[in-house]
Amino acid sequence: MSRPTFSIVVPVYNERESLPELYRRVRAVMESLGEPWELVLVDDGSTDGSTDLIRELHRQDPEHVRPVIFARNFGHQIAVTAGMDYARGCAVIIMDADLQDPPEVIPDLIARWREGYDVVYAVRVQREGESWFKKATAALFYRLIYRITDVPIPLDTGDFRLIDRKVLAVLRRMRERHRFIRGMAAWVGFRQIGVPYRRAPRYAGETKYPLRKMLKFALDAITSFSYFPLQLATYLGFVSAGLSILAIPLVAVARLTGSQAFYGQATTLIAVLFLGGVQLISLGILGEYVGRIYDEVKGRPLYVVAEAANSPSPESDSYAMIEEHDVCHRRRSGASKSHGKTPEEVSHATE
Ligand code: UDP
Ligand code: MG
Repeated sequence: MSRPTFSIVVPVYNERESLPELYRRVRAVMESLGEPWELVLVDDGSTDGSTDLIRELHRQDPEHVRPVIFARNFGHQIAVTAGMDYARGCAVIIMDADLQDPPEVIPDLIARWREGYDVVYAVRVQREGESWFKKATAALFYRLIYRITDVPIPLDTGDFRLIDRKVLAVLRRMRERHRFIRGMAAWVGFRQIGVPYRRAPRYAGETKYPLRKMLKFALDAITSFSYFPLQLATYLGFVSAGLSILAIPLVAVARLTGSQAFYGQATTLIAVLFLGGVQLISLGILGEYVGRIYDEVKGRPLYVVAEAANSPSPESDSYAMIEEHDVCHRRRSGASKSHGKTPEEVSHATE
């Protein structure tokens, strides 16, 4: 089988009502582009019959619809990960099943990819049909993440994005368990750009992200990309111990001058504050080590090479993933649209 130019990866969890419409609209958009494509539908343990519907879509259109069916519900980010593992395209587009991410935006993402951008993320300039609570918590969440993490994760951006194959190769090597894919895609680097779009309301059904899952997701995001919570103890410890030390001369002077102001518990309080501060600082130090262990365990690549004149020596752990003359390179530069079609593409056109 030849490689499709585009893979659309969609995580599906109980989206029976949206699926036929999703397939119809994706198909319409992709056919208008006139290049080989595939739709990777990852069924994340649906219980509403979506699984059979996916099988049926595959039966009707085996050339384009590729099912990946989970044995149980593993969660949105894991489903997207599986989709990225199974996708074979030169560029992979991740989108939701509920049509909040309109397939009609895909050509805009692809246009940027052809200009040379390796990650094209869709930025929500407007969200329709969502509660003020969802919008407010989301706005707060993205701003908090932006402030306390070390990676510049673009604001108001979900997983709706196009990812080039070479970025995908790096993401596939990042096997951390608590996954915040939009952060991971930012971490990788390469040329990235945003494309504005209007986030539509859900086509059917209701959100699969209740508050409980949203909180867990936020926690995964923060802990995957920030040490701030671990360092919090240290900061508090310094404040507490610092205050108690400052209080010592104050109390001493008051006592010596015979003032009644700090009679009673002052010395005990100072001791308690000071010891509490020391304990918090020690906790913070432990936290620093835990953070480093966490970093090692995640086992991310040390660096990501975009270009290099030669391959690394065998003992090193990274390699440049540039294949200048492969089929994806030709298709990206739009060569397949010209008359000089390659044999492989001609054969595809006649399929
Ligand atoms: N989803 C999934 N597994 C889950 C929860 C959600 O695969 O455990 C999928 C869901 O089917 C949808 C996408 O993830 O395609 C986003 O979910 P949803 O639209 O409910 O989130 P919201 O847009 O409300 O944040
Ligand atoms: Mg949604």
